[in-house]
Amino acid sequence: MTDRYHRQILLPQIGQAGQARLSAARVLLVGCGALGTVIAEQLVRAGVGTLRIVDRDVVELTNLQRQVLFDESDAKEETPKAVAAARRLGGINSSVKIEPLVVDLHAGNAEELAGLEAGGVRVDLILDGTDSAETRYLLNDVSVKHGVPWVYGACVGMEGRMMAIRPPGMACLRCIFPEPPGPGELATCDTAGVFSPVAAVVASLQVAAAIKLLTGADHAAGHDLLSLDLWNNRIRTTSTIDAKRADCVACGQRRFQFLEQRGGSASTSLCGRNAIQVRPAGRVVMDLDVVASKLGSAGVVERTPHLVRCHINGSEDLRLTVFSDGRLIVQGTSDSDRARSIYARYIGT
Ligand SMILES: [Zn+2]
Repeated sequence: MTDRYHRQILLPQIGQAGQARLSAARVLLVGCGALGTVIAEQLVRAGVGTLRIVDRDVVELTNLQRQVLFDESDAKEETPKAVAAARRLGGINSSVKIEPLVVDLHAGNAEELAGLEAGGVRVDLILDGTDSAETRYLLNDVSVKHGVPWVYGACVGMEGRMMAIRPPGMACLRCIFPEPPGPGELATCDTAGVFSPVAAVVASLQVAAAIKLLTGADHAAGHDLLSLDLWNNRIRTTSTIDAKRADCVACGQRRFQFLEQRGGSASTSLCGRNAIQVRPAGRVVMDLDVVASKLGSAGVVERTPHLVRCHINGSEDLRLTVFSDGRLIVQGTSDSDRARSIYARYIGT
């Protein structure tokens, strides 16, 4: 029988030994959108052992331009991205263990999701597929605190960036960019759009770095921040070999400010959606049947295996989506106070 990885094993840089290491590897992918879908597909085809996919959102029509694992039926059914991705990936390579999680990664659960709490099975690598600067700084904290490498990737408009970060020896994200950009400072996919080839290139660069790290070729993953502008054919490599800073808050002082922001409930505006997510404090497991019957008096309710949706009756064009981790997405508003009051009114506190 011809091995499905034959062409990959032929590569002297990988070989049988590299393939064996890859198939034993556990990877956490945070975010399954433009970057995440490309990353997931390539890693699953390459034969990674376990891929845990964390994504909080559902598939929408505007995702299909670049999010390669999804199709029109996923958008029509508003399937959670992690679930739609897992379904498709299972058909691509059934020997890979896929763990889809429809949750929001935050300070309170990030270490657990990476298998870094007592009793957990530690991941070997974290891949950044998010579109949130704050989440990246949180991943950087997790990585530096526990010595788990992560691969940073970002894209917006025509531009993208990638860097493989391996603590403790190498510069971390905060050595290079000490603080995240303030709200509204940075263009987002929402305001600036995204050129799908940029996402595909950045994600491919991330996967190349990931495969190097997972097969033990750390040296080949480099010490470079790669930046590209595909419209103007510019690709720039900036060495970060001397960029590690003794006064870096994260890797120098070992203060994990983003990880320490645990606690209260949070509301977040969702990129590109005129929608607000409200997340309850602490760990919640919500009985969706109870939620569905509660919402029955408020509007037209639909229950799927992963969520409850409700179109609120009356003049307001509001749609609520409730997930079993207690999160509510309110579509039709960008007012977070209003979203919180809807949470209190329809879901309870
Ligand atoms: Zn640092």
